[in-house]
Amino acid sequence: MNCPYCSYIDSKVIDSREVNDGIRRRRQCLRCDSRFTTYERFERASLLVIKKDGRREEFDRDKLLAGVRKACDKRPLAGDAVSKLVDDIEAELYQTGKSEVPSSHIGDMVMARLKTLDHIAYIRFASVYREFADITTLKEEVDSLASHAANHSADQLPLLPMEELPVQTKTPRRSRR
Ligand SMILES: [Zn+2]
Repeated sequence: MNCPYCSYIDSKVIDSREVNDGIRRRRQCLRCDSRFTTYERFERASLLVIKKDGRREEFDRDKLLAGVRKACDKRPLAGDAVSKLVDDIEAELYQTGKSEVPSSHIGDMVMARLKTLDHIAYIRFASVYREFADITTLKEEVDSLASHAANHSADQLPLLPMEELPVQTKTPRRSRR
């Protein structure tokens, strides 16, 4: 910042302290020795989410949290598991430094984490987010989870009966043999 008295471009910092949401610096002009104060405030870079229809909207942590919380409703998870998951995603998104991110990318990030956290929550989220077109697509997803769970037994919660899933279908549940 230029000196407010003589407009010289350079100054030295003679004092610096943190204030509420930034840093207050006392400066001295290197040419006229005048003293002045500057404030630096932290500004979170704006992050836009590109929706399926191409519209952009500001990333909304609360909205993401609500969606994940809904998927995890009544699941036996640690109290802070959901907010921690959302914190992780938020941090990762801002760390990329990108100003825009497709909503599908955020959805994938949630799915990847739910898959290791809780299979029912994963299927619930996936059924909304992926908009499973039919019961076959859903069954494939469940089957792949089930075989994965069989290979990695104890660390996952058991899958609940199909009745638990928020999917409407007219297909008979029991296959006739
Ligand atoms: Zn000056």
